[in-house]
Amino acid sequence: MADGRETEKVRLHSPPLGELCDVLQTGLKNNFAEVQVSVVECPDLTQEPFRFPVTGLCGKPRITDVGGVPYLVPLVQRHKEYNMNSVSKEVELPGAFLLGAGAVASRIVGMNAELMPLVLTEAEGRPAVNGSYWSSINPADGQCLQEKYSDKFSDCNFGLLANLYACEGKPGQVIEVRAKRRTGAESLVGALRKTLEAHYPDKSLALGGTFVIQKGKAKIHIMPREFPVCPLHTNDDVNSWLKHFEVSAPLICQSVLVSRDPGLDLRVEHTHCFSHHGEGGHYYIDTTPDTVEYLGYFMPAEFVYRIDRPQETHVIGRE
Ligand code: ZN
Repeated sequence: MADGRETEKVRLHSPPLGELCDVLQTGLKNNFAEVQVSVVECPDLTQEPFRFPVTGLCGKPRITDVGGVPYLVPLVQRHKEYNMNSVSKEVELPGAFLLGAGAVASRIVGMNAELMPLVLTEAEGRPAVNGSYWSSINPADGQCLQEKYSDKFSDCNFGLLANLYACEGKPGQVIEVRAKRRTGAESLVGALRKTLEAHYPDKSLALGGTFVIQKGKAKIHIMPREFPVCPLHTNDDVNSWLKHFEVSAPLICQSVLVSRDPGLDLRVEHTHCFSHHGEGGHYYIDTTPDTVEYLGYFMPAEFVYRIDRPQETHVIGRE
């Protein structure tokens, strides 16, 4: 795939769901006033507010990190383009459901933009179902313009980078996370990740899934339509190039997080959100800690696949 290295595969530590619940319940208490983590039957994700193309998050859970920020900065490498159907084969799960955070294929969309992937990839006798959203900067007013991907484009391509959770999209048991009123400095994703890192210091764990910010607001960014014309060399350079917004609940967020990089040059957390009121993009953290309410569903991944890992790398722009 693409012109980089061979896909690398590493087995992750995937403890029983009950054990993970206890660990996350204890850890999240350091960051939220009210926390309830339990093992539940995954709700039907074809229903509101998710409207996913599959019912659940279960069946051969795995994650992949495709490309990377080094293909975006210091200067864009426009030829870095991938396809969700090919990715499903690279992660040894053809026909997989994929969700997560990425960038659009600028060659197809005609601009740079955020991608919120939600794709049931093609399988024998069944075409792909692309339920993704994408967000760009509206040239009319400089605000967020979120659209359903399939309203304009019929392909399953993306560009530059993506962090994806893959599974068979089946119903089954998942970890439910309920958290209210943020008392710590970490985002929900950061709190989950650092809890796992602290409890399993010598192991690599990953979670993928979806969570809803039910009440409150969140800080997001959207990449400009034009790629940087001058090289971006620092986090400050990247942050002043990105456009930042405060957006409102309900926001449906797709997340991939890794407790500890097993030496694959991974982005250890990446979350994109969409909404049914036209706002969406790259999630950082809620901006309303006193009133925020989260409800999420996650699964531990059994494997991580590193696809087209950049040969020349750096740690800029991974927030
Ligand atoms: Zn992002």
